[in-house]
Amino acid sequence: MGDTQPKVPVEAGDATHGSAFDGPLGEAYRQALTHLAGLSHRPVGVRATPAQLREALAGPLPEEPSDPQHVVTALVEACEPGVVATAGGRFFGFVIGGATPAALAADWMTSAWDQNAAMYAAAPAAAVVEEVAGTWAAQLLGLPSEASAGFVTGGQMANFAGLAAARHEVLQRAGWNVETEGLAGAPPIRIMASDGRHETIDRALRFLGLGTSAVTSVPTDAQGRMDHAALGRMLAGERGPLIVCAQVGNVNSGAIDQVGEICQIAHDAGAWVHVDGAFGLWASASPRLRSLVAGVELADSWAVDCHKWLNVPYDSGLVFCAHPEAHSAAMGIRAAYLPHGAGSTRDSLDFNPELSRRARGFAVYAAIAALGRQGIADLVERCCHHARTFADRLSAHERVEVLNDVVLNQVLVRFLAADGDHDGYTRSVLRRVQEEGTSWMGGTTWRGQAAMRISVSSWVTDEADVDRTVQAVLQCAAAADHDRPQ
Ligand SMILES: *Cc1c(COP(=O)(O)O)cnc(C)c1O
Repeated sequence: MGDTQPKVPVEAGDATHGSAFDGPLGEAYRQALTHLAGLSHRPVGVRATPAQLREALAGPLPEEPSDPQHVVTALVEACEPGVVATAGGRFFGFVIGGATPAALAADWMTSAWDQNAAMYAAAPAAAVVEEVAGTWAAQLLGLPSEASAGFVTGGQMANFAGLAAARHEVLQRAGWNVETEGLAGAPPIRIMASDGRHETIDRALRFLGLGTSAVTSVPTDAQGRMDHAALGRMLAGERGPLIVCAQVGNVNSGAIDQVGEICQIAHDAGAWVHVDGAFGLWASASPRLRSLVAGVELADSWAVDCHKWLNVPYDSGLVFCAHPEAHSAAMGIRAAYLPHGAGSTRDSLDFNPELSRRARGFAVYAAIAALGRQGIADLVERCCHHARTFADRLSAHERVEVLNDVVLNQVLVRFLAADGDHDGYTRSVLRRVQEEGTSWMGGTTWRGQAAMRISVSSWVTDEADVDRTVQAVLQCAAAADHDRPQ
């Protein structure tokens, strides 16, 4: 064993005088802790204007070298006013998680190690960590053990990679090799996706050359769930290559399609089923919520984010595929200079759209290792509990209406104006809430109505955060009401 570590000449920094890294990394460490400690009492939103940020950051291209530690100090000082407190407990915009301590620390190590995760040969530990973390994630999400995994930047690229595998497979079954022949002259692919699908599905179809007009929208119910009976009628008589996109977690309402039923109907018609489960698929990790995603394991590919509900730092997503050959046929790359494990080791270039890339598996591994199955279930359930508390506390107020069934972590809130201009009033409450600073949430339009959108996705959020936020929102609603023309 002793001989496996060959002696190499080392020119390490002198330990007593420190290395070139001590100053900048020590500064980054102190500044990071200061930032994280400040999250509980600073305004969540940003008050700095674009002009102020440019004033602090722009300047002539530096000609001379600068001291790295001073560069870090100056960077932090200039950026802090423009940093949104998304890592804190009262950011409820979009669907944005925080970063758990283990995941954040592993992310720092990822940068220090600076591994190129494309191939086993260049990054053996990263390759094995991805193997293990991919298996763990599939188990947590209730996916088939033989599914292949790709560590991508997020839901967008997970949808892209999953749909690329789908494109390969449905055309292969029709006798067409899209990888060599391209799409010109190929049998047309039809895609069925709900009218409540995420925009990244359409964008992935653009990237894939399938085009957004290849999509037929399937109607949804009032919550945004695909009407699978309608899907069945639409698929009747369909021949040729077909892809069905199901959704686990509507980005506004959190509603979950009945994936088991959809898979049955779609598979009967010979379709590939891709599941966009960017945040909602984590419901599988909770024994209490798992029934919401019953049958999800029957699908052919899945997209999920780790930077949302798993609370891994940006960026981190996973694509899974029940047909590893289709996955690697769509993604793989070969070149004489790229060593390839040929079965004994896993090379991520077989499953990713990138070649050189960050070793995202380390942070996912650390997140799962630190939380465990129970910790992840608890994180997901806690967020859902807080979402229900928001809904209950806000809708107790006579001028507030919750528009969705709160099945997960998403709440859609509407404020009712005395003069009937509910859209205008809702938007003005939202503006005030964003400026007031206790919390931050975004707005949306749901079924034609303006709404405030609350997404509880952070491991940090606790009852006190919810309490402070509800009070602030109701105060903003009262103030906005006061300002309205009577
Ligand atoms: C967030 C989200 C996406 C996109 O994920 P990114 O990580 O932002 O690329 C796709 N689908 C759904 C349902 C989402 O919520």
